[in-house]
Amino acid sequence: MLDYDLHCHSAVSDGLLSPTELVARAAERGVKVLALTDHDDLGGLDEARAAAQLHGMQLINGVEISVSWRSYTLHIVGLNVDPAYPPLADGVAAVRSGRGARAQLMADSLARSGIGGALEGAYQYAGNPALIGRTHFARFLVESGHCKDVGSVFKNYLVKGKPGYVPHEWAALADAVGWIADSGGVAVLAHPGRYMAGRKPMGRPTMRELLAEFVGLGGRGIEVVSGSHTPEQYAEFARYAEEFNLLASCGSDFHGPGESYRDLGRLPDFPLSCRPVWGAWENNM
Ligand code: AMP
Ligand code: MN
Ligand code: MN
Ligand code: MN
Repeated sequence: MLDYDLHCHSAVSDGLLSPTELVARAAERGVKVLALTDHDDLGGLDEARAAAQLHGMQLINGVEISVSWRSYTLHIVGLNVDPAYPPLADGVAAVRSGRGARAQLMADSLARSGIGGALEGAYQYAGNPALIGRTHFARFLVESGHCKDVGSVFKNYLVKGKPGYVPHEWAALADAVGWIADSGGVAVLAHPGRYMAGRKPMGRPTMRELLAEFVGLGGRGIEVVSGSHTPEQYAEFARYAEEFNLLASCGSDFHGPGESYRDLGRLPDFPLSCRPVWGAWENNM
């Protein structure tokens, strides 16, 4: 088992726990090195670091940046970034800034299909109003009785072709990778298995084009062990890592108790061929 968990969310983005609560839960569950990777926001890192110190745990400065690439929305995790590096801080602030208008359009779309009050409802679940997103709408749709759980929201609402979906232009891949790498961090392609599933799955040739472009831009890692991957996908993405000379990362992508594929905590070992991403910063320590 790995005692690293390098992908999780606090209420600074769409997680349920405060950074302090999140770190305490990770410590209880045996994590020794935790990266907090809130969506498009670095605001939880100071609190998380203070909490980690109390638990004798190492906190890695992280972030998960939303990216539009061709017709896909991708997530790029930055690990060991410098949150004070202005292009990174300004970059994620620019990515965040579109979320308010998007939320209004999502609420308008839901209203057209008979669901009122979604904007106010969603904001009730947003710990950080600047980060309003689909998860907060999903919580509102569950609590107001429209769906039985968050998973069924993402089948029937908020995704392409369904009420509440609003197309959105996120960061360019080159910008997200550049902000992360130039701040001294490691850019990691998050949960690649997710892009190859769903309504419009990315095929293998496109995944290869993406990885080639990502590496060309300075991307260095790929999530092999992710809370949203099956064990077969660990093997599959270990092969991509080898082919593209990428470091392997692992993370639960925990959002909250009862709301995630996988809880915080120790994750299964990498396939043998993998070179762990923490080699990128531990060798320099
Ligand atoms: P947004 O950045 O506002 O588009 O929201 C994206 C977030 O929605 C992801 O980070 C997940 O937390 C959540 N999400 C997306 N798809 C699903 C799904 N199928 N099940 C549960 N949560 C999802
Ligand atoms: Mn999320
Ligand atoms: Mn993600
Ligand atoms: Mn995530």
